[in-house]
Order: sequence, then C-alpha cells, then structure tokens
Amino acid sequence: MRCPFCRHRGNRVVDSRLSNDATLIRRRRACSACKRRFTTYERVEEAAPMVVKKDGRREPFDRAKIVAGLKRACEKRPVSMETIDRIASSIETTMAEQSDREVASNAIGAAVMNELHKIDQVAYVRFASVYRSFKDIDEFMHELEDLINQRKQAPASRASGAKKGDVGS
Ligand SMILES: [Zn+2]
Repeated sequence: MRCPFCRHRGNRVVDSRLSNDATLIRRRRACSACKRRFTTYERVEEAAPMVVKKDGRREPFDRAKIVAGLKRACEKRPVSMETIDRIASSIETTMAEQSDREVASNAIGAAVMNELHKIDQVAYVRFASVYRSFKDIDEFMHELEDLINQRKQAPASRASGAKKGDVGS
C-alpha cells in the first residue's frame, strides 16, 4: 500500500493490534520515505500469515488443523475442549498480530508445544514426538529428561498451576 501523504510504497509496521472481536487488525505504519505514520485495518482472514512448511510449500493458516493436532495429543487426557479451543485461539491471535506475511510451520508447532507444556505433560510429549519427528530415540529421551528435571525442580507450582476447568470436564 502507498503512504497517504507522499505515495511512497515502502513502510514498516510499528504496532499491530487485534480488535476486541478479533475480526480486524489495526496496524500503525511508518512511511520509510517521509517517516509519517498512518493506520491500516485488515480483516483477520487477510492478516493471518501463510504457513511455510518444511519442504517449502505454503498454505493458508488453518485453525482447524491446530485443533485437530491438539485433540490428538490430548486424547484421554484431562484437558477440556474449552482449553483446546482457548489454545487454538491464542495461537491464531498471535499469528494474526505479527507483522510477517509468512510464518514457518515449526514456529506454530513450537507455540503449540509451549502451551501444552503448561497444561499436560503427556499431551506435550505426544505432540512433540509427532511434531518434531525426533531424529532418534536419544533426542526423545533427552526431551523426557528435561521434563522430569523440571518437574523435580517445581512440583508444587506445577500442581497448583492446573486450572480448575481443565480437570474432570
Ligand atoms: Zn510517506
């Protein structure tokens, strides 16, 4: 898009914000020629970046895929559908808010793992093993060791960190 003051095409995003109903993204931009600032509004579908897969192929960001991956990881775990939905929404929002037009699929995977890590360790390891497709068993064991060590260090905070709604629903 062009600068409304000098018609220059180049600009950079200085701030991005999602509207309360998560349908619009408001970006503050700074013109790289005249340095003046202006605001643009984009619909979220347009704002969501393209996902770049490991083999270089690109596909549109798909919330349903994240939900499916989460459901698989959380099968028979005490994680409610509400929690899964909340994680998917939070990742969708993060992706829409960032200014890059493309995002690597493993960045999304890392974001999902980060959320699962806080909620359910078994689901986390399940998701990680599929998503990262660990090169070998050593790598997988290393990940498990890290988890076990973290648990030993902070058993109390982990227990109290669980949300009420996540259990037994
Ligand atoms: Zn300008």
